[in-house]
Amino acid sequence: MKKRLDHTESLSTLGQLAASIAHEIRNPMTSLKGFTQLLFTTANDEGKRYLSVINDEINRMEEILTEFLEVSKPTTHIFTKFEIKNLIQEVVNFMAPQALMQNINATINFEVDHTRKILGDRNLLKQVFINSIKNAIEAMSHGGNIYINISDMRDKPYVCISIEDQGYGIEEKVLERIFDPFFTTKAYGTGLGLSHINKVIGEHGGNIEVSSTVGKGTTFKFYLPLHNGNKPILTI
Ligand code: ADP
Ligand code: MG
Repeated sequence: MKKRLDHTESLSTLGQLAASIAHEIRNPMTSLKGFTQLLFTTANDEGKRYLSVINDEINRMEEILTEFLEVSKPTTHIFTKFEIKNLIQEVVNFMAPQALMQNINATINFEVDHTRKILGDRNLLKQVFINSIKNAIEAMSHGGNIYINISDMRDKPYVCISIEDQGYGIEEKVLERIFDPFFTTKAYGTGLGLSHINKVIGEHGGNIEVSSTVGKGTTFKFYLPLHNGNKPILTI
């Protein structure tokens, strides 16, 4: 199954409002955390057990808020010209320890001229590929391979970065929602990774395709416009 995406603004005005609420919630949470820790020092064993559950839950709420604020904050894009190959290599090196711990091997295959450049915000795109590989790792609880392929599109000035995993795959009903903010199938997921990825790729004039087979694995293909010396950025 396959899904092609339009560029949609994943975080709307409502999202901005949610961001300011998230920000406001942070202060009372800090005070909750402080008092929980204070109570811990005087509580008996039973009380300590309950308080540590409260503490864990507060930490979890903080994590969600931090990730949400990270995604929704207005970012100034710093566009530079850079080689996509180096960026992907950096991401793979960065993720290697986490992958190794789960018996996962990530290999990169370059089908394109190594000096091919794109114009974009390097940090934002780096986050895109980190999040995508993180999702691949999280889908492969039994280990396996992640194949990353960088190729050209024959008829268009785009580079295609595909990330293929051997994870549990995505059911059709789930596939329709994976880019929605806060949609997650994971017990401890935030559901913000793919909505951010979609936003960033859209802002770069790119596109995403997903194909998946349940029980076999998933492939995300990211298409990004190649930089050509004259125009700053190519649009579809
Ligand atoms: P999170 O990882 O916090 O759940 P994401 O936005 O990154 O949020 O992903 C949303 C959902 O998309 C995941 O919960 C999962 O169901 C699905 N998903 C994303 N990537 C993969 C993948 N490589 N394999 C299987 N499912 C995936
Ligand atoms: Mg994720």
